[in-house]
Amino acid sequence: MCQHQPTCPSSDAPGHATARVVAAHPDQGWSLLCNGVVLFEDTGELLPDGQVVQPHRPVTPRPRPARPTAVTTAIATAIAA
Ligand SMILES: [Zn+2]
Repeated sequence: MCQHQPTCPSSDAPGHATARVVAAHPDQGWSLLCNGVVLFEDTGELLPDGQVVQPHRPVTPRPRPARPTAVTTAIATAIAA
């Protein structure tokens, strides 16, 4: 079913996640690849045969606003006193 040149790896090939994206839904966090693999933002995969591949790359945590820890709060309180 792949019309690309060079041909994309099939869904059971080792590099199947490198197939071309045919439908991207970044707002929903997934992309459909040429070989029928659904690739999720967290690197998890859903293969055409229904097999699930767990995420294999750590997801970069979203930056959180800096919040004083209990220790820094205690130090600030000690300094202020
Ligand atoms: Zn292809």
